[in-house]
Amino acid sequence: MKLIFATNNQHKVQEIQAAIGSQLEVISLKQAGIDIDIPEPHDSLEANASEKSRAIHQLTGLSCFSEDTGLEVEALNGEPGVKSARYAGEDKAFDRNIDKLLQKLGNEENRRARFRTVISLIWEGKEWLFEGICEGTIAHERSGTGGFGYDPVFKPAGSNRSFAEMTMAEKNEWSHRKKAADKLVLFLQKAVTNTQ
Ligand code: IMP
Repeated sequence: MKLIFATNNQHKVQEIQAAIGSQLEVISLKQAGIDIDIPEPHDSLEANASEKSRAIHQLTGLSCFSEDTGLEVEALNGEPGVKSARYAGEDKAFDRNIDKLLQKLGNEENRRARFRTVISLIWEGKEWLFEGICEGTIAHERSGTGGFGYDPVFKPAGSNRSFAEMTMAEKNEWSHRKKAADKLVLFLQKAVTNTQ
């Protein structure tokens, strides 16, 4: 079975495909021949995820899913949250977003943070939402070169390494996106079985 993943972020496609395994082939927008940048204008991850999956469903008429992820930092009252991609500006620069985050946190002792992913699936015309959360802390400085986004400064609870110091498989043992993807797969397995 193939399913369109409404994203232009190749890292996310790879992570979700690794999380899902071979039972489902995930097709990016590019692979589906769709060249659009869907806006994320809303103030919640849920609403942004819905916007993206609905837009692609309208365009293609096919079952598809999207996801929106935010980094929620306790001492910053949940910032950057839904604005994670554009924290330091519209150009979505990962490096400058991290600089701003570290600067705003300064020497704050409470470094607790979490990644939260919301997946919106449009399956046979109906929408379903799945959430995945990874608790952790923000390091004082960057470490590692893997991953993307805030990975160099995020350490999942129970690990002394940042996501950027992990392989994709290691990150997926902790990851918010993997937890949401597991729920998606479980749903699809049941849905497919029920239609057979
Ligand atoms: P998006 O709006 O869902 O594309 O993601 C918002 C921003 O959160 C991205 O631009 C990244 O900076 C960050 N982000 C999302 N997922 C991750 C992750 O797994 N690790 C690190 N940063 C992430």
